[in-house]
Amino acid sequence: MVTNKKVVLVGAGFVGMSMAYSLLNQGGVDELVLIDVNKEKTIGEEMDLSHGLPYAPQKMKIKAGDYDECKDANIVVITAGLAQKPGQSRLDLAVANAKIMKEITENVMKNGFKGIFVVASNPVDLMTYVVAEVSGMPKSRVIGSGTVLDTARLRYLIADYLEVSSKNVHAYILGEHGDSSLVPWEHCYVGCKKIIDIMKDNNHPMEDLKKIHDGVWQAAYEIIEKKKATYYGIGMALNRLVKAILNDENSILTVSTYQNNEYGQEGMYIGVPAIINRNGVKEILQLKLNKQDQDKFNHSCEIMKENIEKEIKPIIK
Ligand code: NAD
Repeated sequence: MVTNKKVVLVGAGFVGMSMAYSLLNQGGVDELVLIDVNKEKTIGEEMDLSHGLPYAPQKMKIKAGDYDECKDANIVVITAGLAQKPGQSRLDLAVANAKIMKEITENVMKNGFKGIFVVASNPVDLMTYVVAEVSGMPKSRVIGSGTVLDTARLRYLIADYLEVSSKNVHAYILGEHGDSSLVPWEHCYVGCKKIIDIMKDNNHPMEDLKKIHDGVWQAAYEIIEKKKATYYGIGMALNRLVKAILNDENSILTVSTYQNNEYGQEGMYIGVPAIINRNGVKEILQLKLNKQDQDKFNHSCEIMKENIEKEIKPIIK
């Protein structure tokens, strides 16, 4: 039986279209539907992307559409809403984007969607919570891009520093996709060797690890300052996440997923390593965090909980 792999993208802006372009280039999706409040833009994007098809690895039906397309979609990816302006933090977008998430989720659910939600709009951990609450879907079927991008940035920077392939860097960012994220360095490896041991054995100063993490969380601010928005990295990261779901991969990615005490916290979405397959989050990978990292993780979760109570609940009630 041939199954149609169908993705609906809501939000045909920089981030959404970077994912779309990445999907077109890498193949693996049969049908991509573009939805945006700016309908004209989706028509233009449909035309522009489709003109690349003769050079794509496989055919992909691309069309500007509406929410009725969600009925038989495998995945709805949400990249709609406001983006950070220079100097703004992701949390500054919470109220405005929560209203947009609510409206979009209601439209998707009204049309009988039964697939998996992937949310990238910021602040992503809070926006994923909104989509989960408003949709009423099982929590495992609503996934935020979480720290998938931050983790890619971390792997890139470590690879550059140690001069190894980023493919062999197994390091993960946990917590908020934002300023309070953390790296559990004791659980980070290059190949099968601990990064902490590599630093010691090569006389690299340990404080360079902190500089690498600073480089990760400051990256968005720096890029936005220089070119107004970040989109290629997240476009590739979303492609990766979509493929892990469509291909039932059981791949480990640091997504924003609902906490049920796996890390001593519950009641919010936050970035942790999780096994992803066609049903969404199959399982959260539990790491034993040292006290310092657990404290940082708890701090990140407290920020989320505070924002849920103050900013989010009044909107979704
Ligand atoms: P953008 O302004 O280029 O695109 C946003 C799009 O959303 C626009 O086309 C707009 O018309 C559309 N939109 C707004 N309200 C809508 C609604 N109610 N229904 C449908 N469409 C609607 O912004 P961007 O640079 O693509 O960023 C999009 C989001 O992604 C932002 O919230 C940004 O902060 C976030 N982002 C997330 C990550 C991550 O790692 N998760 C990385 C970069 C950006």
